[in-house]
Amino acid sequence: MNDLQKRTWAEISLPNIRRNYEAIRAALPSGCRFLGVVKADAYGHGALPVSRLLQEAGAEYLAVSCLDEAMELRRGGITMPVLILGHTPPEYTGMLIDQGFTQTVSALAKAREYSAAAQALGKTLRVHIKLDTGMSRLGFLCAGDYFDLGVGNVIASCQLPNLEPEGIYTHFAVSDEPGEDNKAYTREQFRLFRAVIEAVESRCGFRFALRHCANSGAMVHYPEMALDMVRPGLLLYGYGDDTGRLGLKPCMRLVTTVSTIKHYEAGTSVSYGRHFVTERHTRMGVLAIGYADGLPRILSNKCSFAVAGGFAPQRGNICMDMCMADLTDLPEAHVGSEVEIFGPANDLDSLAAAAGTISYELLCAVSKRVPRVYAE
Ligand SMILES: *Cc1c(COP(=O)(O)O)cnc(C)c1O
Repeated sequence: MNDLQKRTWAEISLPNIRRNYEAIRAALPSGCRFLGVVKADAYGHGALPVSRLLQEAGAEYLAVSCLDEAMELRRGGITMPVLILGHTPPEYTGMLIDQGFTQTVSALAKAREYSAAAQALGKTLRVHIKLDTGMSRLGFLCAGDYFDLGVGNVIASCQLPNLEPEGIYTHFAVSDEPGEDNKAYTREQFRLFRAVIEAVESRCGFRFALRHCANSGAMVHYPEMALDMVRPGLLLYGYGDDTGRLGLKPCMRLVTTVSTIKHYEAGTSVSYGRHFVTERHTRMGVLAIGYADGLPRILSNKCSFAVAGGFAPQRGNICMDMCMADLTDLPEAHVGSEVEIFGPANDLDSLAAAAGTISYELLCAVSKRVPRVYAE
């Protein structure tokens, strides 16, 4: 990073990602494969550096949300299998096949379109079937009265020409939430997932090589659901439940700097809307981070940042490119001081809670204006 960029940056610890990968891997049943979820630019950590690390470390699969994200990986030299979790328009079937991507198939109509396109090209598309066992998002409906129809449609999809059904998966809605209701819901999703697989496999006489359902929440709370492959995202980046017990470390530290320091008398209003008024003589820092960098405006007057060995309360509305923080009680803070927005000194989960959201959203929110600085 050159000095011109020394405004706001995100420090990414590749060694921590590597250690997290190894710790997660070590806890898996033998033979269980590891799919690293690197969608949304690897939750803001940088899809390419993270994917290169996982490829080198021996992960078996990656997952992204769309074809553009998958292409970024191939262009960056990633050769390992990549599962596309979302929809890809069937006119891109040729690109999916030529790049060796694995496409999610979430309905019979889509399976037919991919099959027809692959047939026209005289090639075969590798697919994973996605079941909707209770998330009510993408996937073949199979709960309750839909069971037989769902099983029938999955079988019909798997028997179409020029599709290779390598895997089948589902996604949990509340695997990371406490409470007996949520546990029962997750267990029912798992039961249904297994029941559909069994019905399909026994009627078709083949086995899916990769049956997978465990996201981070399930890996922590239901290790018995690992099956053939796990799909951690958040856990890999060191956030989520029980990361301490598992020995996982956060991998991103969002840092800004103090641009200037001003002294105000009591009764001075600060920032747009005048929503904060000083109550004492105040030494106010102007920080070089705003909502365009990914610091949500909803956090205005609701958070503190780590600086000079203490915490500075954020004051006034957060602006697009700047915000203010009270440095009165932190005499060591000076112009140019580093201010940790979140990281080891300032917990991301608490910041997310103050914003009424989850750690995932704040990680993804770190915008492209913020340079990523990789610690090797
Ligand atoms: C995002 C995603 C994951 C990873 O979820 P985490 O909670 O970050 O572990 C796994 N599977 C699917 C289908 C996803 O969309």
